[in-house]
Amino acid sequence: MRIFHTPAEMQQAALTLRRVGRRIGFVPTMGFLHEGHRSLIRLAHQHSNVVVVSLFVNPTQFGPTEDLDRYPRDLAHDEKLCRLEKTGILFCPKAEDIYQPRHSVYVTEESLSRGLCGASRPGHFRGVATVVAKLFNMVQPHVAVFGEKDAQQLRVIRRMVRDLNFPVEIVSGPTVREPDGLAMSSRNANLSPEERRQALCLRRALDRAETLAAGGERSTETLRNAMLEVIRHSPLARVDYVDLVDEETLEPVSRIEKPVLAALAVFVGPTRLIDNTVLKPAEPA
Ligand code: AMP
Repeated sequence: MRIFHTPAEMQQAALTLRRVGRRIGFVPTMGFLHEGHRSLIRLAHQHSNVVVVSLFVNPTQFGPTEDLDRYPRDLAHDEKLCRLEKTGILFCPKAEDIYQPRHSVYVTEESLSRGLCGASRPGHFRGVATVVAKLFNMVQPHVAVFGEKDAQQLRVIRRMVRDLNFPVEIVSGPTVREPDGLAMSSRNANLSPEERRQALCLRRALDRAETLAAGGERSTETLRNAMLEVIRHSPLARVDYVDLVDEETLEPVSRIEKPVLAALAVFVGPTRLIDNTVLKPAEPA
């Protein structure tokens, strides 16, 4: 495994790999890798013959009061895990190499990023789209892999690739969960034991919506209220949003007529967690 720290080294290696006919698979991450990231690296191997993993906690996607400084980091662990997964190149740039002084060009997506996390984290998707566009230029991937756990991010990236004609195929991987159902997240490391227990309310709320929808409930207001009711039982949980939106457009919908994304963000103590599921209209009995 080769390790690069600068965009120039990374880009040069990528251009050389392309010249000799290698197919580059790319998994962008913020590090503190877990089984969810590992599953994406494995998926990248299925679609390429050299995998690049980036570790970069991107400052431009964090708001001024958010957890940039508290974001967990462990480079030695990440390096070990990438070796285990037969990563070809590990790219871990420094923020000052990614953002030059007086950086002034950004990528903004103006539709899908309005609601959900975009509404509660202004500027977040501008930071995400900008860094992913920059990383694509550095890594020159044929295919890039993203997790369905970040459902809105996945859609924003697909739209960016379509609308800006990036020659990159986007592949998505399902959410990997702890045995009790909590979606794996680097931020789970910041939970106290009691917060960790109560963090299960996200998955429980999604389970409740899935059960009701499978039983024929189509009103998104009823489903949303049922989800909120589940979360109310966890006193350390504070809802940021619980929304049911069209799976493609991310516009709010009142009834499940086509696939609906049920997405939520909940603070458990100081830690903000997200999760989602897609609800389909129940087959008539
Ligand atoms: P992050 O390091 O949290 O920025 O995530 C890097 C990539 O891993 C993103 O594409 C995420 O959607 C994906 N990811 C994060 N958590 C999971 C998970 N539990 N299962 C699958 N993919 C995940």
